[in-house]
Parts: sequence; C-alpha cells; structure tokens
Amino acid sequence: MSRFLSSRYRELVPYVPGEQPAGQTYIKLNTNESPFQISEKAAAKALKGTRPFRLYSDTGCVELRKALSRVYGVPAERIMVTNGSDEALDLAFMAFCSEEVPALFPDITYGFYRVYADVNRLPFEEIPLRDDFTLDLSDYDKKRGTVFLANPNAPTGIALRRGEIEAFLASRPDDVLVVDEAYVDFGAESCVPLVAKYPNLAVIQTFSKSRSLAGARLGFVIADEHLIQDLNTLRFSTNPYDVSSFTQALGVAVLEEEAETRKNCLKIQENRAWTTEMLTELGFSVLPSGSNFVFARTGKMDGEALYLALKSKGILVRHFNNPRIRDFNRITIGTMEDMRALESALRSILA
Ligand code: PMP
Repeated sequence: MSRFLSSRYRELVPYVPGEQPAGQTYIKLNTNESPFQISEKAAAKALKGTRPFRLYSDTGCVELRKALSRVYGVPAERIMVTNGSDEALDLAFMAFCSEEVPALFPDITYGFYRVYADVNRLPFEEIPLRDDFTLDLSDYDKKRGTVFLANPNAPTGIALRRGEIEAFLASRPDDVLVVDEAYVDFGAESCVPLVAKYPNLAVIQTFSKSRSLAGARLGFVIADEHLIQDLNTLRFSTNPYDVSSFTQALGVAVLEEEAETRKNCLKIQENRAWTTEMLTELGFSVLPSGSNFVFARTGKMDGEALYLALKSKGILVRHFNNPRIRDFNRITIGTMEDMRALESALRSILA
C-alpha cells in the first residue's frame, strides 16, 4: 500500500477471482466458464457487424437490447446492458442501498456482494443459510433493506422456486429485490416473468456462462423501467461506454443462435447428472445443483488438500477459505472428457 491510498480504502479487502493461469494448460473447472465455443458463424458475424472502432460504442446498446427484447419477450425499456453482470451488481448496490437501506444477503453466496457493499461504504447484513445450505426467506421478513439473492446460489448451486420468490416479493413491496440469475439457464426458474408485475424486482443475468462469452464481458438487467432509469443514472455517472462495440455485436450474434445455447445448457445438465452420480459413488456428498457446477465434499480429505491434489494433476477446481464451507470444493461442469479426467484423478487421489 502506498501512503497515497485514500484512507477510505485502507481496510478494503478486494474480491479474489478464481485463478486464470497463463502458460500451463489445466482442465479448468474453477470459474464456471462454458466448455463450449461460440459458433464460427456468430464470431464472423460479430466481426463484420461491428461499428467502426474509431467511433465510441453505442451507449444505448440499441441493437443488443432489441435482440434481448425479442428473446425474453420484454420491452427494451425494461432492459439494460452492462460490462459483465458484475457491473450491474455494483450499480445496483450504488443505486438501491444507502445508510438507511442496508444490503441483505446470505452468509454463503457470491463473494463480490460483500465487496460491493464495502467499496461503496454501504451497511450490509449477512444472513446465515440453514445448516443444509438452503435459504429460509422468512429470515428476511423483519429486516428492511435491499435483498440480493443469487438464484441458483453460488457456490452451493441450490435454487429457490419462482413461486417462493414471488410470495417474498409481494410481502415486501417497499424494498427492492435483486435476483442474480447468472446460472439460471442450467435448470432453475427465472424471475423474468415477474418483472411486469413487481416494480421492486431487478433480475440480473450474464452472457458469461450459458452463452460462452465470459471473456467478452456482457451482462444485462431486466427490471421495471424506473429501476432501469435509476441504474442508468449510476451507469452514466461512472462509465457510459462500458460495453464495447465488439461485445455488443457479439451479443447480438449469439442471441441469433438460441437453439445452440439451449443445446449447450442441456448438455451441461446431462454432464452434471453424470458427475453427481460419479462423485456420490466415490463417497462425496454433493449439494443438489441447478447450475453449471456442483459443490461437493468428501469425508476422506480436507477440501484444500483435495484442491491441491487435483491441481498437481492438472485439474483446477475452486476452494473457498471460509470456515462454513472449507470442506467443500466447487467443481465446474465441463465436457464429458473433462469429467472423465476428473474421475480418474479423483480415483487415484482417494486410493
Ligand atoms: N453472479 C454470480 C453468482 C457469479 O458467480 C458471477 C461469476 N463470477 C457473476 C455474477 C458475475 O459474472 P459476470 O460478471 O461474468 O457476468
């Protein structure tokens, strides 16, 4: 730390992203990326369709919002595009939390929520999940504040039903609910159909997982138009050119291949079922997952030791140094080839 760092940030503990190793080739099952490439046709189309790079990108992201509007059946005024869904989350913390309106989220969830609260100097409360890592929405009943729920949750993979979320929303009309649906396409129920009915709901999604564009950085929000206006106020006060022309063109091209996206998501669900069975057979307990990863522990080995043993065999998974979940590893679902390599590494480690 230099002596020039603002006193506001001296205590800040930044988010630690999963490893992105350069040089050595690992089977990467640590950051929930898609194992599938976008089609060559979509990539070529995006290159051709890009607005000239000498011009700034379209701050309104008009073509991309039109394409999202077509795919999700939601008017474009209820859609906003961001640089990854991380940016959308940051804007939501800024827009909808304050000294009087704390952020509320589970103790075990996406680690960035805490960092967004900290960096924006917002009060927050972490509400413990049950012992089995399910979420009891009634724990939030007596608490005022903006609730952030990842659904499915990360790193547990456990999903709430849309009906439960709707009852919760209806019970707290004066508080905003942000539902982070980064993993929703792998079998959970989206809250997008609720947006027309609830002015206090913001749904955040990403192109990073089901649409294989983690490196392009593209996320979006679907919400009541007044909430979208608020988020845009913050967006235009921080980085209005947040989504590059190339990324916007990529998003449009990938949305033209929805059948491909659905097919990839089904493949991941099949591979997840196979992986869950394989891990169970090896003695792991695996939480029920609605996402493109599983969260698993073995009674035979400490979570960190297993992570290190897999790494030494060329397979990266994600281990979190949090006392409640330190026995677990989060394993991204890849191709069947990746999953078979995982099986053989695990068999030799556990033998
Ligand atoms: N939400 C959750 C729950 C995540 O796990 C991630 C991925 N790290 C994100 C949001 C952010 O994804 P991106 O910024 O790539 O859209």
